[in-house]
Amino acid sequence: MAKVYKFGGASVKDANGVRNVERIVRLAIDSLAVAGSRNDGLMVVVSAMGKTTNALERVVEALAAGQEDKALAQWVDIIDYHVSVMKELGLQPGTDIRLQGEIPYDPTRSYDENYDQVVSLGEIMSTQIVAVYLLKKGLPVEWWNMPKLLCTDDTWREAKIDNNTSCAAIRAGWDRPSRPLIVVTQGFIGGTADGRRTTLGREGSDYTAALLGNYLDAESVTIWKDVPGILNADPRIEPDTVLIPSLRYQDAVELSYSGAQIIHPKTIRPLENKHIPLYVKPFGDPQAEGSCISADGIGPVDVPVYIWRKNQILITMRAKDFAFVLEESLSEIFDIIHHHRLKVSLIQSSAVTISVCVDNTRFVPAAIEALQVHFNVTYNDRLSLLTIRGTTPEILARAKNGRTIMLSQTTRRTARLVVKEND
Ligand code: ASP
Ligand code: MG
Repeated sequence: MAKVYKFGGASVKDANGVRNVERIVRLAIDSLAVAGSRNDGLMVVVSAMGKTTNALERVVEALAAGQEDKALAQWVDIIDYHVSVMKELGLQPGTDIRLQGEIPYDPTRSYDENYDQVVSLGEIMSTQIVAVYLLKKGLPVEWWNMPKLLCTDDTWREAKIDNNTSCAAIRAGWDRPSRPLIVVTQGFIGGTADGRRTTLGREGSDYTAALLGNYLDAESVTIWKDVPGILNADPRIEPDTVLIPSLRYQDAVELSYSGAQIIHPKTIRPLENKHIPLYVKPFGDPQAEGSCISADGIGPVDVPVYIWRKNQILITMRAKDFAFVLEESLSEIFDIIHHHRLKVSLIQSSAVTISVCVDNTRFVPAAIEALQVHFNVTYNDRLSLLTIRGTTPEILARAKNGRTIMLSQTTRRTARLVVKEND
């Protein structure tokens, strides 16, 4: 059967990272039945190297601001970085891999469309390097161009997938008798029917891996990360973390929805639909158990889990007249929220107000403006949402200690605190 592996930016940030991918891929293909069925194979999904996506975002920002010199300098840095990794791996820029010469920026197009054309190049470059390197190391590899296979609409920066067309295209490629055992391709990017590249939203490679797992009826999807697996808290914040070895799809959805940085929230659904287990494993220790998310995972998780969702804004709406009808206002508010692509992390209502906590994205100012037409709107930004699952009164008291709490919602097992950032 097919297996899907996903390598994030941290795992391919330098030449050693790419060599490590080779090591992990070899372990996988040794275990795949060599004389097995046609569906056998390894789909390797790779993100942009290191912080390349952020760097490419800065190129677009600079160009949009008319700062061409700055954009060019940034672009040259990005190219140099890839060239140096290639050289260290013994690959020849220009011969083995031809890197994009010019920045694909067109001032007549919208910012978001340009963003997708430029930012998607991070994954194009990283996958070319990984594929050519594996090939040179004697592995049976093919490079796939997702913009031609994963069909999306043109919702730039958050493109929606056409699953039927994409699945058919990917299965056609996979089921070819001539397909080598390993396919290397990009996470995070797709393309429109008329051939323009799109992106699926930051950190979207996990989602790509899950979609491919679904299309190929994979036996499993594995995300290789720089942590031992799914932990009960962010090790950069909490000193004592524990590994959660097994969890159910629903727990994973809740964790990622609450803001856990383990997996992209959209990742679970395509896997759950086909009962495909998702492994999260450390790329530094490929034989380690890691964590497994599956239908028959053990749940609920029996250690308290701390999840931070950063960069939140709490928006409070109060009706302009006194005839405040909660139900009517709710549908109006959520229409506006949905239309402006806000991501709601918490809702609270009282007799005369409704508050929503949302990710403080670039869409927020326009949404607030729209809400102000109907409501008196106030807001607080620079907030974080802390979700504690499996809380107790003692744990909650400790979490609140020394922090400015703007709002709290607690049930018997779960506490959600909106707190001021940098407290
Ligand atoms: N390279 C993209 C990002 O950094 C996608 C991903 O890593 O999942 O957002
Ligand atoms: Mg990334």
